[in-house]
Amino acid sequence: MESPSPASPTAGHIRLTSHPGQGTATGALALNWGAADPQVRGPVVGTTANRSQRNVIGTHSGSYGVYRALAVAAGNLVRGHRADLTNTAPTDIVGPYPQWLDARKMVSIDPWGASVQSVFAEQLAMGYDIRPTIAVTKAHIHLPEIKQALAFQRLAVDGRVLLEDASATVTKVAVEPVWWLPGVAARFKVSEAELRRALFEETGGMYPELVTRSDLEVFLPPIGGQTLYVFGDIRDLADPKVTLTARVHDECNGSDVFGSDICTCRPYLTHAIEECIRGAQAGGVGLIAYSRKEGRALGEVTKFLVYNARKRQLGGDSADKYFLRTECVAGVQDMRFQELMPDVLHWLGIRKIHRLVSMSNDKYDAITGSGIEVGERVPIPDALIPADAKVEMEAKIAAGYFTEGLVPTDVELALVKGRGLE
Ligand SMILES: [Zn+2]
Repeated sequence: MESPSPASPTAGHIRLTSHPGQGTATGALALNWGAADPQVRGPVVGTTANRSQRNVIGTHSGSYGVYRALAVAAGNLVRGHRADLTNTAPTDIVGPYPQWLDARKMVSIDPWGASVQSVFAEQLAMGYDIRPTIAVTKAHIHLPEIKQALAFQRLAVDGRVLLEDASATVTKVAVEPVWWLPGVAARFKVSEAELRRALFEETGGMYPELVTRSDLEVFLPPIGGQTLYVFGDIRDLADPKVTLTARVHDECNGSDVFGSDICTCRPYLTHAIEECIRGAQAGGVGLIAYSRKEGRALGEVTKFLVYNARKRQLGGDSADKYFLRTECVAGVQDMRFQELMPDVLHWLGIRKIHRLVSMSNDKYDAITGSGIEVGERVPIPDALIPADAKVEMEAKIAAGYFTEGLVPTDVELALVKGRGLE
């Protein structure tokens, strides 16, 4: 059967891979998750160009795959375009580390995803459409908070980590999720069949192979990935003797980018960056791991609905009803599920975080539960908490957030009030 022409993508028949024998009949390379030798492990092939090569469910770049579909539908992108990977190799080599070989420790990232250009050069030359799922590059970042830290002499220019123009030098890494379904199911303590069925049904039946192709164990989910910002030498992350300052931060567009004052996300993030720079300057290394999980992975529409519900409820926004209002709208308090978060730390070879810039008990439990030692926990300084964010902060402390101070009582929580809508 011929592929439809790019100008008329709906012409011809659609090839389904939902039945065995059609998708991987010829040409698909075996995937043996957790195998020590990458040649035995095999490359992740999620191409839409040549279906016979596919050995996973789903496609690359998560939700951006839909934009790719639009580009094909509009005739802007030639169907079957293969990426030219010339000069795209990582600026810094990460690993391999022993953690990569523990299939149960690395269930949501392809550890070889950054180095397919070299590790799978032979298969690429044979015509396999293999894409990196991780990219490593260098950057300078300019932040007003860091400029301010220099002005107040909390930080000093050293010409290596922090430059004369107040920019910080970083290695940054973009990571796309690659889920090994048996391992993800085990992490959530459910059966693989239950996980596959829920994924199939809750995506509106978008991926039939989830339920028809149990032989395909790897899924490229249509969700956002992670970005890592490393201050200092990325290889030092794997050395437990080098002091590591780290924050694992979940996306909050309203605060992170636009400075909305209802939460502490940006102030805590920039405080962590300042701590990372200070640590790297003192001979250590710093890491910000940023996950695209907007609004506790509930999305921004739900988040804004909750803001309204909080501020319009009888008595106004108060800390004692903070979690209740989220649960009323979303059905849960939080959908971030930190279970998969430590994978990226293991990918970096991390065994010890000396200074964890986070008060989240969920994150702390996930990190330590995965076998990484945590030393000190660094809270956000009180002076950085916006007035309207007190509601969130006190509610979280009452619910188990790390604090060096007192945990508020129910009566005290009811007295912590936020601003009204007007
Ligand atoms: Zn926030």
